[in-house]
Amino acid sequence: MMIYPLFPGGLERALTFSYDDALDEDIRLAGIFSDHGLKCTFNICADNGPHDGSFPSFDVNEVYLKHGHEIAVHGAEHAFEDMMPTEAVIADILENRKRLEAITHAPVKGMAYPYGTFTSDLKRQLRELGILYSRTVNSTHAFRLPDDFLEWNPTAHHRENIAEIGERFLNNRYPRGTVCYIWGHSFEFSRNNNWDIIERFADRMAGKDSVWYATNMEIYDYNQAFRMLRFTADCCYVQNPSARTVWIMRGKNAFEIPSGDVVKIG
Ligand SMILES: [Zn+2]
Repeated sequence: MMIYPLFPGGLERALTFSYDDALDEDIRLAGIFSDHGLKCTFNICADNGPHDGSFPSFDVNEVYLKHGHEIAVHGAEHAFEDMMPTEAVIADILENRKRLEAITHAPVKGMAYPYGTFTSDLKRQLRELGILYSRTVNSTHAFRLPDDFLEWNPTAHHRENIAEIGERFLNNRYPRGTVCYIWGHSFEFSRNNNWDIIERFADRMAGKDSVWYATNMEIYDYNQAFRMLRFTADCCYVQNPSARTVWIMRGKNAFEIPSGDVVKIG
């Protein structure tokens, strides 16, 4: 019997974005996402990062948080974390978290690797520093949830023909926990004078009944709840020990599994 994850509300697809470095162009980009009901994770350094004064010059609450976007770690100093001694990694990640958490007053546990570089040692260190997921820069051109969230490969950078990728995502005939994940830097749109790429994509993707618009952490959290489901050996009953409602597909039928309940699905 085929059993697959669905997203909140029984939706078949999820769309998420991840944009790095928090330069002033993020104001325009976050505005495009907010106007279209799309959700993005914005990855922010604590100090200079690769650009002078890259800690947002604008109001993080107004631009990101008020509209349901997520902010996440991008290394306090945008360093090659994979080459640094453990002590330096600890200081850099915790400094970054503290700086962001002073704004959110809530845990900040997502990340995008500065320069996209990582090692298995770094992944272990991040786990101990409370980081739950981290995005790479390795495009898959596919729509799969990651096996290892500390190696979360995006679907594509926005320069990689996202118009075509978006059509494939929307027209996928067998969506099964399908996630389209686009990343980049907002300053690239100004540098390359191609804001129309993301404006057109946002127009095309907005308001779809089958798509859950979510931040990276919302997808991570939901997937954790799905992974916690307990099935009977004959797959006729499922128990949801998590604190949130989970939706699944069994054969051709969708089921809502409320938090704490056991539901008959077969
Ligand atoms: Zn960066």
